[in-house]
Amino acid sequence: MNSEQNLTREEAIAILNTPDEQLNELIERAGALRKKYKGNHVSIHLLTNARSGNCSQNCAYCAQSCRSHADIEKYKWVDDEKLYGDNTFVHDHKLSRHCIGLSGMKFSDDEIEELASKIRKMKEEGTHLCCSIGFLTKKQALMLKEAGLDRINHNLNTSRSNYPNICTTHTYEQRVNNIHMLQDLGFEICSGGIIGMGESKEDVVDMLLDLKEINPEALPINFLIPIKGTPLQDRDTSNLTPEYCLKVLCLARLLVPTSDIRCAAGREIYFKGREKELLTVVNSIFASGYLTADGQGIQDTIKTITDAGFTCEVESD
Ligand code: SF4
Repeated sequence: MNSEQNLTREEAIAILNTPDEQLNELIERAGALRKKYKGNHVSIHLLTNARSGNCSQNCAYCAQSCRSHADIEKYKWVDDEKLYGDNTFVHDHKLSRHCIGLSGMKFSDDEIEELASKIRKMKEEGTHLCCSIGFLTKKQALMLKEAGLDRINHNLNTSRSNYPNICTTHTYEQRVNNIHMLQDLGFEICSGGIIGMGESKEDVVDMLLDLKEINPEALPINFLIPIKGTPLQDRDTSNLTPEYCLKVLCLARLLVPTSDIRCAAGREIYFKGREKELLTVVNSIFASGYLTADGQGIQDTIKTITDAGFTCEVESD
């Protein structure tokens, strides 16, 4: 069998079909790469939902979409007090990064300038920032770059062939092109996907193979939390056993070993009691919630990491 990045599509599918009795060996194999490239550290990210709801797009999993009737707070800009308070929290707790999510796919130049001024202010504290934002024009991306934005999150979410089952208001290709444009401008990229939306194992592999091509600095894997009011509210997630979820994360580590593999949404649900195995493979997690879903608080997150025998990465600035 090939090692690390050179896995074939068939070998990658076979990894997702690893018998549960051989999971420990797979975790060991992925864990060796995690150790080689990421040591024993876990980076903690804090997410602030800077703009919520009213999105024109129809992503089936998303509570903020025009298709969703989820009971969420909707606002154009989160209060400055919350945004800057979260940024200071990241700074004071020496967390790895402050992630800022904005609903929506297109923004006016004025809106981007408003965001750029907020970024300039947050960068005064030296925090590492990542914006999860829709499609930017080159001009807008440069405005954010000049303001000091380090990284942009733009997920592939699922495979190219499964994409139309999840969203029809934009294409997979648009997402890939947007990521390449941002890479060409020198942005670090955070890009990953969501598992549990009815995709096949082949879809998971195809998405991860495309992510391997992109080679993002961070690769977040979300495990679906069906949200009431979204088209996926009744999605059966019984296939998301801890064993299967771990196999997906192991495959991500084997294919893109140098990336920060992050277990994002669903960590507290699907990995309860399996944190040591989880952190053997991934080196990055969120604290304090995921946009419209609650998560684990910071002290509990730190305890989870240290109890499992790992150390928290301290922000370098
Ligand atoms: S995932 Fe983003 S683009 Fe899709 S509906 Fe939600 S906010 Fe809009």
